[in-house]
Amino acid sequence: MILHYEELLINFLFIFIPYFLFQTLWLDKGKANHKNTNVIIVVLIILSITSCMAYPIRFSGGIIFDLRQIPFILGLVYFGWRVGLVLYLTIVVNQFLIGGEGVFISLIVTTFMLIFISLCKTKFDNLGLKGKMISLTLTAFFASLAIVLLSHATIQTSSTEQNLTSLNFVIIQGLSMLVITYIIKNSIENIRIREELLETEKLKVISELAASVSHEVRNPITVTKGFLQLLMTPEISDHSRQSYAALSLKELERAENIINDYLSITKARPNSCIISTMESDIEYVVSVLSPYAAIHNVDIITKCNNQLLVKYKQNKLQQSFINIAKNCIEAMPDGGILSIETIANKNNAIICIKDSGYGMTKQQLAKLGTAYFTTKKTGTGLGMTVSYNAIHAMNGTIKVDSTIGSGTEFKITLPGA
Ligand code: ADP
Ligand code: MG
Repeated sequence: MILHYEELLINFLFIFIPYFLFQTLWLDKGKANHKNTNVIIVVLIILSITSCMAYPIRFSGGIIFDLRQIPFILGLVYFGWRVGLVLYLTIVVNQFLIGGEGVFISLIVTTFMLIFISLCKTKFDNLGLKGKMISLTLTAFFASLAIVLLSHATIQTSSTEQNLTSLNFVIIQGLSMLVITYIIKNSIENIRIREELLETEKLKVISELAASVSHEVRNPITVTKGFLQLLMTPEISDHSRQSYAALSLKELERAENIINDYLSITKARPNSCIISTMESDIEYVVSVLSPYAAIHNVDIITKCNNQLLVKYKQNKLQQSFINIAKNCIEAMPDGGILSIETIANKNNAIICIKDSGYGMTKQQLAKLGTAYFTTKKTGTGLGMTVSYNAIHAMNGTIKVDSTIGSGTEFKITLPGA
């Protein structure tokens, strides 16, 4: 039996290229949730099917087969029957353009799979990663077996060599599916681990802010202590006594506010969307970061001129602004100015977060938002990934301008509600 290994390898390549493109261009850049992602994957699967069919694997004895069923089954299982139908039509059109002996057999099996897999989709969704891997491999295996058996039943003159060749097809298709599902399983597990890591980033930010909160609370307490000592001196007038008491209360209130703001970021909030101009959220971000800015000698200036209503998840928006603004404060080790400004431009709300810090090089700018990129000794490199993910999930964009030695500007654009 002659098997054209190069053709087999090319078919493998057609199946794997869409996966690797998707992995490197989207998943690694934290853009997995982008609204166009699904469309892009489906287009890649269509290309994969078309290429597999255009460059099939030829065996001796005139037998031809290809691995089109693998992207078809994967697309159908992961994206549902609508995408499955598009992929089915891709196969039908290509099949009629190419022609050949097994046109109808292939169509019968593909049609059966479209119906069968669509009906079993809910059951499949409930399976674990291993279960998915096994069921997909078996599906690919039986699909090729069905094609082989139907071919033998309809084409009378099959030699022993042709039988052996057909068996190879069944094994190759089953094994190929096993390999690709194993890779997909690993990559889904990696995404899960990364998402869990991103969750822990919030805890890291909370713990980093803790030191500045306790520092900032100390000031009002020291001031209050001084006033209370003054109140204990017998010779002061009633007027002074009253004003000392009032000032003490005001200072204690300030300490209380600092602690309350800090504690509120540790609380879980509802994940639902709200519609607002973001003004109160910006105020919140500023008050949470004020102690941190104070110990870094950073002044915060805010100008909220946006009147446009925006729809967003409050906790995600706050978290992403906190991460960006905190980086800005950290970029000004000798103090400086952090400015947060919002404006409305046509149907977009624009938020500019700007520092007068040390800035970034072009290389650093290019890596910004990529997971684990950090230039700090104890950095995680996840803060910006969290922010980018949140802004992309809101269909927003983020543009960064930075000049070494003079500062960085983050321009976030969010569409109006
Ligand atoms: P981390 O703060 O833990 O390092 P981030 O994802 O928040 O992780 O930031 C990644 C890197 O981006 C930082 O280490 C820093 O080099 C760079 N960076 C982010 N924001 C700024 C900024 N405003 N000025 C200069 N560099 C910045
Ligand atoms: Mg950070």
